[in-house]
Amino acid sequence: MGRLVITNLCKQYKDNLVVKQLDLTIEQGELVSLLGPSGCGKTTTLRMIAGLLDPTSGSIKLDDKEIVNVPTHKRDIGLVFQNYALFPHLTIFENVAYGLKRKKVLKSEIEKRVKAALESVQLTGFEDRLPTQLSGGQQQRVALARSLVLNPSIILFDEPLSNLDAKLRQFLRVEIRQLQKKHGFTALFVTHDQEEAMVLSDRIAVMYNGDISQLGTPSEIYDEPSNSFVANFIGETNMISVNDVREESDCFTAKLKTGEIIKVSKRKNSTSIEKVIMFRPEHSQVIKQSDVEKMGEQNSLNGQVEYMHFLGSTYTLGVRSAAHDKTIICSLQPEDYKDLSLHEGDDVFVTWSKEKTYIY
Ligand code: ADP
Ligand code: MG
Repeated sequence: MGRLVITNLCKQYKDNLVVKQLDLTIEQGELVSLLGPSGCGKTTTLRMIAGLLDPTSGSIKLDDKEIVNVPTHKRDIGLVFQNYALFPHLTIFENVAYGLKRKKVLKSEIEKRVKAALESVQLTGFEDRLPTQLSGGQQQRVALARSLVLNPSIILFDEPLSNLDAKLRQFLRVEIRQLQKKHGFTALFVTHDQEEAMVLSDRIAVMYNGDISQLGTPSEIYDEPSNSFVANFIGETNMISVNDVREESDCFTAKLKTGEIIKVSKRKNSTSIEKVIMFRPEHSQVIKQSDVEKMGEQNSLNGQVEYMHFLGSTYTLGVRSAAHDKTIICSLQPEDYKDLSLHEGDDVFVTWSKEKTYIY
């Protein structure tokens, strides 16, 4: 079991409302990330679910049972923090066994369960060491084993990988996902790292200023961001101010400040009060001024190549245009880039389709 239903959850400090009527349901066995910038209220939300902080108002139900007034250790919830929070004077075995001892589980049973938990995080043989004798990644695995051993319905993670280097982070997030699927616990994973959230999650709750801005699968969040905050926070974007937005029968049109008309496909949450268009760097093409006949019916704007960066698998091009006060970013495949044989200062058109244009 482990279905979590949060309704109308609020946390207020003096006149500062840091969590605002937050609603979130996490299905049993699901991994949901709470993704948002620093200070948006992620840790506050997680601490209220864990019982480490009292909500100002609202309801938190685990499997239909109200848990707001249930003490932390009786909530059937596991916790994994950024700083591991292991007991420094206890061995790895004792750290993992701690919760079971508190529950007065039989010694033979403790031995068996600790052994299994350490095995599942690949730390067999480390039982007698102290936390300081382990690397950061290993310590975080111990923290995970310490939660797993109690077999909770749900495990809450608060930026558990933030203190680790990039390679290890990538490795451990896969491991966490595999363990979560294997053991079947529900998980809420707090992170400010959008790539981590994309890779790990069944669904992502994008949090902004104490509230959930959008909830959806990684591809829904990426492909159909419902507002400009989400669009900007997830992936790279070009956001360009427009005016004179008009609703046509099959699309919206909007005018760049240099006069070009941009077409925007209608989508289910489209409204027509907006003033910026958005497209992603990977959805743009670059066409040289001399190849203008190749341009077709796409949205386009004119500019000059400002820089070209090789990123390993793609090239990033910065284009300056009178239509926008920031550099426009285009992401090109190496073969397309090479065909163009561009130089800094070259006159180009940046083009992209109306289907890949969003308006906010
Ligand atoms: P996040 O985890 O998303 O970085 P937090 O949940 O830690 O954000 O904090 C959200 C907001 O609540 C921040 O603006 C923070 O300053 C504020 N806050 C957190 N704890 C307290 C507190 N004990 N008293 C007053 N304000 C707090
Ligand atoms: Mg935090």
